[in-house]
Amino acid sequence: MEDKKLNFIEEIVKNDLESGAVKEIITRFPPEPNGYLHIGHAKAICLDFGIAREFGGKCNLRFDDTNPTKEDTEYVDSIKEDVEWLGFKWNKLCYASDYFDQFYAWAEELIEKGLAYVDDQSYEEIKQGRGTLKTPGVNSPFRDRSVTENMDLFHRMAAGEFEEGQKVLRAKIDMASNNMNFRDPIIYRILKRAHHRTGSKWNVYPMYDFAHGFEDAIEGVTHSICTLEFEDHRPLYNWFIDHVSVPHKPHQYEFARLNLTYTLMSKRKLLELVSLGIVDGWDDPRMPTICGYRRRGYTPASLRRFTQEIGVAKSDSLVEVELMQHILREELNKTSTRAMCVKHPLKVTLTNWDDDFIDTFVAVNNPEDAEAGTHEIHIGKTVYIEREDFMEDPVKGFFRLAPGREVRLKYAYVIKCDEVVKDEAGNVVELLCSCDMATRGGDTPDGRKIKGTLHWVSGCDAVPVTLNIYDHLFTLKNMADMEEGRDYKDYLNPNSLVVENALAEPMLATAKPLDKFQFLRHGYFCCDKTSTKEKPVFNLTVGLKDSWKK
Ligand code: ATP
Ligand code: MG
Repeated sequence: MEDKKLNFIEEIVKNDLESGAVKEIITRFPPEPNGYLHIGHAKAICLDFGIAREFGGKCNLRFDDTNPTKEDTEYVDSIKEDVEWLGFKWNKLCYASDYFDQFYAWAEELIEKGLAYVDDQSYEEIKQGRGTLKTPGVNSPFRDRSVTENMDLFHRMAAGEFEEGQKVLRAKIDMASNNMNFRDPIIYRILKRAHHRTGSKWNVYPMYDFAHGFEDAIEGVTHSICTLEFEDHRPLYNWFIDHVSVPHKPHQYEFARLNLTYTLMSKRKLLELVSLGIVDGWDDPRMPTICGYRRRGYTPASLRRFTQEIGVAKSDSLVEVELMQHILREELNKTSTRAMCVKHPLKVTLTNWDDDFIDTFVAVNNPEDAEAGTHEIHIGKTVYIEREDFMEDPVKGFFRLAPGREVRLKYAYVIKCDEVVKDEAGNVVELLCSCDMATRGGDTPDGRKIKGTLHWVSGCDAVPVTLNIYDHLFTLKNMADMEEGRDYKDYLNPNSLVVENALAEPMLATAKPLDKFQFLRHGYFCCDKTSTKEKPVFNLTVGLKDSWKK
């Protein structure tokens, strides 16, 4: 890891190692496999895996798959791919479902100790009975069942004798506790659903709060790092660990979750965008998913650096998406191949050019990187320039092409506009220009100043390409500011994707998915996964202009 100030969790870890309280650091990243990972998860991954790496410890990738209703192996596979892509290696690959027998045994242990009971109330009655922050809850009429009866009923729940919602197992703690989580939380519920790993073996499944600390205990996790909303759950996490015979006692620490401007991170909503077809899958380049960023042109290094720059805090905040873009732009400037691409082509004929003559130039792939090599570009009698780079009546301060004016074609020659060709409607359709053959390479032998340099493509070999021009998926800067009663879909940006046809250097036809380019004057682009030699497609990664302000 790069040199840096330690964040508060790293400080804790460092102290625990120095004091000998902990011999070896073990962390875990525990996603629920019910969706694809998003940029918030990237922050958690960098923290969990980063700390283990930094302090010579280990980090497990653990699938928190205790709820069979929403989980799927497709998600498991995508999560593994994303963690590896981000540059991390897990110690053990774990599944909470592998511990179901142990959880069940610990539930029995709680029953045995008189610390859990089977409740026949409905979910609604249980909710009512919990009370509020101001009023205590009331004891369930089933709270004082005998150990024998509870054990029998729990076994019969597991055997499938009851239907979903008919019975639950609750911890017997304190219905008047100031911490609502202590008011006899449900620890097991009946779910007659097939699980993606255990199939139909189980009719009862443990709740998150009951299972999570046990998962950490089984794996010997020393520092269980999670987001702030679990702070209130920590006493309960500890209560479970303290009341059964666990092999090891983990400790939970909380940090602030990442929120980004113009972005939503709830997996439920992201899943909805996918299933309603509002976006082109989980990896749509507008999605805040790790695979979306990958397809957009983000690199693992840029995402890791981003999570580093935003730091780890104890209170929630909103991070500007421009910071991510700034970090990426800095990297792409050093690494991406420069190429020319014309979005709105205007034909230019070089009147004094020999019909069949093709000249060849060598273009440097990246002026920031001497190792990046070069590629050839060709020019013939016809070239295409950007329509916006010509003005018939140039306004003040316009230094590009206009009647009677000279400009430099990047890498090639100085040309002069002699005549403007229009169609019947009066639209400019072609420029007739003379090429100063003495300016090969772009310098004028007489030293006369040429103010404008234009990017261009050659009629002899330019290829049509498709550009996906992306903008924020949502129009609201802070999605937490949504108006009452409105749906997040009301804030979708209708212009989040604009598809454009362009002409590009022939080199771009052989680009492979994820290849990255800087299209001169247009921005950084990344070759899309749908791209073919016949129909090359590029995604706008990020524009050239940096709008990030510290
Ligand atoms: P969502 O609410 O989007 O479904 P989640 O928290 O339920 O997300 P999990 O799969 O349970 O998703 O998350 C795995 C880990 O990633 C957890 O430790 C969680 O705290 C962390 N995490 C989730 N979202 C963020 C975020 N926005 N910023 C930082 N960490 C996050
Ligand atoms: Mg969760």
